[in-house]
Amino acid sequence: MYKSVWIPKFRHRIYYLMAYASLMLGEACRPASQPVAGNLIGLAKSAQTQLAQQFAQAGQQNTIEAYQAFLDRYPRGLQADSARAKRNRMAFAEAETAYTYQAFEDFLAQYPDAAQAAEANYYLRSFGFINKSYLLGKIDYASHEGFVQIAAQYLPLPMRTLTMYMRKEAYKNFIRMHQAALQDGIELYIVSAARDFYDQVEIWEKKWGNDEDTAQVEKAKKILRYTAMPGASRHHWGTDIDLNSVEPDYFEQAEGDQIYRWLQANAHRFGFFQTYTPLDPKGRAKGYEEEKWHWSFRPIAAICLREYLRTIKYTDLEGFEGAKTAKEIKIIDHYVKSIGP
Ligand SMILES: [Zn+2]
Repeated sequence: MYKSVWIPKFRHRIYYLMAYASLMLGEACRPASQPVAGNLIGLAKSAQTQLAQQFAQAGQQNTIEAYQAFLDRYPRGLQADSARAKRNRMAFAEAETAYTYQAFEDFLAQYPDAAQAAEANYYLRSFGFINKSYLLGKIDYASHEGFVQIAAQYLPLPMRTLTMYMRKEAYKNFIRMHQAALQDGIELYIVSAARDFYDQVEIWEKKWGNDEDTAQVEKAKKILRYTAMPGASRHHWGTDIDLNSVEPDYFEQAEGDQIYRWLQANAHRFGFFQTYTPLDPKGRAKGYEEEKWHWSFRPIAAICLREYLRTIKYTDLEGFEGAKTAKEIKIIDHYVKSIGP
């Protein structure tokens, strides 16, 4: 009997609850209740607007710190991915500007998941490239991880079938420079890039010739006006390029002069500098004659020069005609070291 009484009661309760629920649901769907739901939507909308405003503010400051501050506050915000990407890109550009082992290591430690991680890892490995055989040009550019073949479009028409290589980073910045120059109506062409030790021996020995009578030191000095001794050329490093012509006369004419003036004004924006500025007793007192065509990618070339001066001895310069003159002429002190500011 108890059950028969309780069950209906129970059922009533269920019906009651269902009725109540449907009433509430009905309420929620009625126009009169819209302010309640509307407030929620409104709140969400204003949070979104606030987030967008904060992101725009970070964008106005456009610093690593500003994007980081945004991410600290809204790690899951709609714009978090974008903030992270912008922060990483800027941090990587900073590491590239510093161009030290430490800078790339710090970048990877802070942003291990960054899209630039592979590139940062490459840079870390690249510092290991610069050993004695690298500096002497005794490496194979075609198979070396640090080098890339220069696209034919950057070579002058008659040279487009040649295979030339350059250090990756220098090439990347050359392309940027090439594009900027084009916008100013200047066409830059690479006429010479990475040259290994054996290429340089060929150039050197051709000039050396068979003339046994001339005093060796005098003969070497004559060649050294414009040509480096094998093992002592910056072209070995892949950081240095000759642009448009290697004839001094070309740069005295209108076209060459215009190109040279553009490079003087702009090359530094892309990391390049003129290595052999005019010889001047008060400035660059010794070494090669002025070369308006020879430009060097400073971030890596500076490391190469530092390592060269630290590790290469006169005894390392051997294996070609006239090698014995290197010490007497002081090739390292008077030529390798003697560059423009
Ligand atoms: Zn050169």
